[in-house]
Amino acid sequence: MAEFADHRLPSHGLDADAVLSRLDELAVDDRDWRGGRVFSLVYSAGDDVLDLLARAANRFSAENALNTMAFPSLGWMQHDIVTITAGLLGADRRPADSPKFRGYLTSGGTESLLQATKTARDWGRGTGRTTRPNMVLATSAHAAFEKASHYFDVEARRVPVLADGSADVAGFADRVDDDTVLVVGSAPSYPQGVIDPITDIAALAQERGFLCHVDACLGGFLLPFLGTLGHVTKAWDLSVPGVTSISADLHKYGYASKGVSIIIYGDAELGRLQPFVTSNWLGGLYGSPAMAGTRPGGPIAAGWAVLHHLGEDGYLHLAEDAWQAAAALRTTIDSTAGISLRGAPDATVLAFGDDGSGAVDTFALGDALADRGGWYFDRQTPPDSLHATVHAGHRAVIAELCADLAEVAGELARSGTRADDRSTRYGTV
Ligand SMILES: *Cc1c(COP(=O)(O)O)cnc(C)c1O
Repeated sequence: MAEFADHRLPSHGLDADAVLSRLDELAVDDRDWRGGRVFSLVYSAGDDVLDLLARAANRFSAENALNTMAFPSLGWMQHDIVTITAGLLGADRRPADSPKFRGYLTSGGTESLLQATKTARDWGRGTGRTTRPNMVLATSAHAAFEKASHYFDVEARRVPVLADGSADVAGFADRVDDDTVLVVGSAPSYPQGVIDPITDIAALAQERGFLCHVDACLGGFLLPFLGTLGHVTKAWDLSVPGVTSISADLHKYGYASKGVSIIIYGDAELGRLQPFVTSNWLGGLYGSPAMAGTRPGGPIAAGWAVLHHLGEDGYLHLAEDAWQAAAALRTTIDSTAGISLRGAPDATVLAFGDDGSGAVDTFALGDALADRGGWYFDRQTPPDSLHATVHAGHRAVIAELCADLAEVAGELARSGTRADDRSTRYGTV
């Protein structure tokens, strides 16, 4: 369509159908996640849920949660989402004399982790503990903590993970000092899907008197249900003594539209450090809970809608589907010569690649899977691996994937093909 080729604002507006059909055209090169062949970036609970999300987001597409006095609906929805999430994340399973929790919605996991880090920095300043704060975290903790470190001048001290991919708490103990404001555990970690020893990390925080954030961005809407189903028994949530805050992404295993994460502080007093308030300008009192000013109503409404539409039984069902799909994939990886899992994944996120024998090249395996069946996995390093976020929508296609994987690995072992392109990219600029 020539009228779109020059990147200019059209002098005469085009009709809506022309614009919408151009959007469809633009999407032709996008990864087709609908068929369940994409193992990153998108979480799918099926067409009915997608339709509900679109309708709920559409209903609130113009509303702005910057001011919930103007839109009390969005204030109420946020309160409801935070309270439900706090319950899922163990707030109600703490001792009866525990402080009241406090939580906020953010635009995503990154913003939640930025806030957790900023809160820890401000806590360190406010208590007079330190003006040169550091945080101690495993090499598996999400890249967003590096962003937080950079933005807020909190030194990130990374401790290498153990062979099973979990955080090395003894290593943490060696790196913490009087300037430490925060330790981090992941539940589970993004790169290898491992739940860190949260009980031990939180105990270290409690003993030494600093904060502990659990990054359950990935697991927050998955592990509660895998726990109920008996698939996960590790302790990881707010009910663990010493955990001071936790984050969970509704837009991952909550199956919501993009743009909703939740951060909960176990103590409302600590949580009060998060919002920003100023009147030092000409526009009046300006309060804001997180990074953004204007906050879109659509994702909040969609997130609220999906929680209530799916309910506990819906999430249990989806968690079981994701678990079964991931279990099938793990079994195939374990039983296929030349490839192996990375670490010991606890949930439905995992990484795999060559088994160290040199028989199969990890990235050639990724390329061959894309060629064979349009299967898409993110590449990671170090070590080289393919990353799979397995969700409920994968259950229908997992047998086909497993067959292709075993076949392709065998072919590569025979041909010895290596991929020239060794690049890895999880996010792009
Ligand atoms: C996805 C993820 C994040 C970052 O979340 P975004 O929504 O991509 O900003 C942080 N931590 C973990 C463990 C994650 O899986």
